[in-house]
Amino acid sequence: MTTDARGFDTKLIHAGEPHPRIRGAVVMPLFQSVTYEIDPAEAGGGYHHGARYIRLNNTPGHDALQSKLAALEGGQAALVTASGMAAITTSLLTVLSSGDRVLAQRCLYGGTMGFLKDECSHLGIGVDWIDADDAGSWEKSLTPATRAIYVEAMTNPLLEVCNLEEVARFARAHGLVSMIDNTFATPVNFRPLELGFDLSIHSCTKYMNGHDDIAAGAVIGPADWIGRITHRLNHLGGCLDPHAAFLLHRGLKTLGVRVRHQNESGMSIARYLAAHPGVARVHYPGLTGHPDHARAKGLFDGFGSTLSVELSGGPVAADRFMSALRIPILAPSLGGVDTLTMRPAATSHANLTPQERASLGIRDELVRLSVGLESVEDLIADLDQALASCRSVASAST
Ligand SMILES: *Cc1c(COP(=O)(O)O)cnc(C)c1O
Repeated sequence: MTTDARGFDTKLIHAGEPHPRIRGAVVMPLFQSVTYEIDPAEAGGGYHHGARYIRLNNTPGHDALQSKLAALEGGQAALVTASGMAAITTSLLTVLSSGDRVLAQRCLYGGTMGFLKDECSHLGIGVDWIDADDAGSWEKSLTPATRAIYVEAMTNPLLEVCNLEEVARFARAHGLVSMIDNTFATPVNFRPLELGFDLSIHSCTKYMNGHDDIAAGAVIGPADWIGRITHRLNHLGGCLDPHAAFLLHRGLKTLGVRVRHQNESGMSIARYLAAHPGVARVHYPGLTGHPDHARAKGLFDGFGSTLSVELSGGPVAADRFMSALRIPILAPSLGGVDTLTMRPAATSHANLTPQERASLGIRDELVRLSVGLESVEDLIADLDQALASCRSVASAST
């Protein structure tokens, strides 16, 4: 790990910035150029060295952003990619080759699960699904071909926090590469490399950029792994567009203030909902009643702003509730300035059978909220009127 003793918010603003500033510019300029004149002194042994080209993710904008991201999680290096899925798939395809196997947490992000189920088998990569909560059960899934273990900091949409400390320890003990999707926690709330994880992956489309206006991804870790993943990305082509890199760089500077505010709003809203008679259950790791609360409290500096609720009136009440909301927008995605809502059984998890959803604990009346940066009093007043309107429907129909 690299050590940068500055505070997290100071790193957000200053880490990775060019010294001296480019023509004095306070904001890192946008370098839109695809290619860069080769400096023969820098090229040294051959023209390949020192070549700067957009797809190689090594323009000045990429360099600054990658150094900043590495500093935020205490990694030696980082790589930015065209999307979260580009970071996930390129990292997995670097760590795993044909014949290898990976231990994967059961309830992963839909795109990741689809990649592991649908694509990896064609490539000769085997997946063994594990209960990431039950460390005692992992060893029996190990084979001589197992190379990696893959988990998420918090799962979607139930916000479960698995035994992350044990995942990192188990990986070390068995020579596996430990990989974690840290999108829901963000480096404000959790820095997995400090716990011993090898690779921390983000969809920067979510909290990292935070404004719902670009797709981007990142992977942070040791320089040798990041070098190999970069080499693979150079072939697969999922580089980050310079304009998106510029916007991500800008979005990151406010990550600390945004996420700390969202942590507070998420907690207030979770508490409000948990006390409401129209709500059967709230899934938020910040609530003492959440099964993983003690673990989350020990690992995280905050619990984020993604939560889900089960409405007492079933799926009809859930749909009525969502359509009665005036501030939250009915849309997928999370982590941005706008509060968004959706019903997983009807959207992100609609391709699963009702039995599969039930086995994952995703009920039809479950509604997910990603709390944004609006005034929390306004959000609570809006939730209140929407719950009142769906309760009158529930009582009218009984
Ligand atoms: C959105 C998301 C992804 C995929 O990211 P994209 O930027 O949409 O490719 C991966 N993991 C998690 C946890 C996500 O929320």
